[in-house]
Amino acid sequence: MILRLTSEQLRLLRNESRKTHLIEACALLFGRLNDGEAVVTRVVMMPNVLKSSIRFEANPQTVFKAFEQADRDELQFIGLFHSHPAPAQPSAVDLKYMRLWGEAVWLVLSSSDGNIAAFQMTNGELHEVALKVEAV
Ligand SMILES: [Zn+2]
Repeated sequence: MILRLTSEQLRLLRNESRKTHLIEACALLFGRLNDGEAVVTRVVMMPNVLKSSIRFEANPQTVFKAFEQADRDELQFIGLFHSHPAPAQPSAVDLKYMRLWGEAVWLVLSSSDGNIAAFQMTNGELHEVALKVEAV
């Protein structure tokens, strides 16, 4: 699986993570999925209702609205972005949630070293997703 993002989207995600500082930032990624390629065309930031640096929870209403809007615009759900103060790989808690979110792509930004990486859980196995950033 390849995840395609634009440098503009990446900048937005980095900025949001920096803005929220010690609070974990999260976003939903929508776009088009075809032939092992996920192209992100919409990034929807989700406020962290827990205001925590180590846990994330979004308002279900906000999540629902984002899905509804994407559906209207015929965009597919690609996955989730979040930042956490640990290396850019899923934590034990992330892995637990990954199993619940099916084959969603998880884009993880380390707020400690700025690294970013993407992962996907397929058939209970964790795979790294290739990240392609297109300069705009
Ligand atoms: Zn995490």
